[in-house]
Amino acid sequence: MAGLTLEHLFKRYDNSGKKKRTVNDYAVNDLNLKCEQGEFVALLGPSGCGKTTTLRMIAGLEDITKGNIYIDDCLINDLHPKDRKIGLAFEDYAMYPPLNVYGNVAFNLRAKGVDSAEIDRRVREIAPLMQIEDLLEKMPVKLSGGQKQRVNIARAIIREPEILLMDEPLSHLDGKARQAMRIEIKRLINKIKCTTIYVTHDQLEAMSLADRIAIINFGVLQQFGTPTEVYDDPANEFVASFIGEPPMNILETKIIKKEGVYFFSFENSNLQITVPRRYYDVIQDGFRCKVGVRPMDVLIGGEDSVGTPEHIATFENLGDERRIGIHVGDMLLMLITEDERRYRRDDVVKLEVRGEKTHLFDIETGERIR
Ligand code: ATP
Repeated sequence: MAGLTLEHLFKRYDNSGKKKRTVNDYAVNDLNLKCEQGEFVALLGPSGCGKTTTLRMIAGLEDITKGNIYIDDCLINDLHPKDRKIGLAFEDYAMYPPLNVYGNVAFNLRAKGVDSAEIDRRVREIAPLMQIEDLLEKMPVKLSGGQKQRVNIARAIIREPEILLMDEPLSHLDGKARQAMRIEIKRLINKIKCTTIYVTHDQLEAMSLADRIAIINFGVLQQFGTPTEVYDDPANEFVASFIGEPPMNILETKIIKKEGVYFFSFENSNLQITVPRRYYDVIQDGFRCKVGVRPMDVLIGGEDSVGTPEHIATFENLGDERRIGIHVGDMLLMLITEDERRYRRDDVVKLEVRGEKTHLFDIETGERIR
């Protein structure tokens, strides 16, 4: 088990003639990450943000444009992939079709010349961990997606890596199998206690598995923190809207002052939300910014509540929760309610917004204000 450090890591592909999709054409742009021994770190971000490129540079499968990668204190930039003590589980299972599961799991050890008694000991040790004891004689074509993925992970961990890299290991699985495998990965990592870097674009996976999440957009690290930190204290508008389902409402607002009290106000809307006192020293009357509030912090008040009356614009019944959209000027404010009532478009409800749960973002840069 070892720690992993990425220091000012850059990757620029030679994309001459191709459409630019990255900031300054860097697929990875000055990435700094320090993952502790035994830590489970998720790299999370939208498609094309540079997650796989980062993983491939750590594995030694992609050249580094600039920067350093360390395992503990050892600089590994120029180390051959096979000398890096890294286990890889990529999204395509890449099994050898003529070999059965046993042969596939044993393959890398055989290639390294490990003797067959030792290989057998390790396969028999890993098999129950990954629950593949009954599959060892099966051929890859006979396996389900979930079984293939378990074999794939067994192949990565049999080399007893110091760092385990996983790239979207659940992406080929559907809903239920995905959830089951997520629980298995968590159980496995708790057992083998290997430092793990896990690439995903699924925030739920990252939130449920990781000790810390590195959120990346256009190759640039947006925030590195625990699931609670990135959810409760998002560093910027991107993180705020990427983490959470349904996402945080982020609305343009102008702050107004009435009798010494500040309110968030919205163009073409009667809605006003009380500004928490903690913001009083960074705002003034007329200040423009964006205000973020999670759907669960917008409540439907009772008949005699002090909330402002608003018309319902959208209503979705998802079984155990109901989602309601309210027009705030040209913007839509989403809320979640467990209220059993079947609301309809244009019904009027009284809204109460938990002002103390709001976040402020700079209108230009999207950076969090405080
Ligand atoms: P996804 O979730 O879709 O796999 P990702 O976050 O893993 O995306 P990368 O695959 O690392 O993103 O790609 C980052 C950027 O680098 C993208 O703009 C992509 O088009 C570009 N890129 C990736 N591989 C190459 C390559 N071999 N040659 C040129 N550009 C590449």
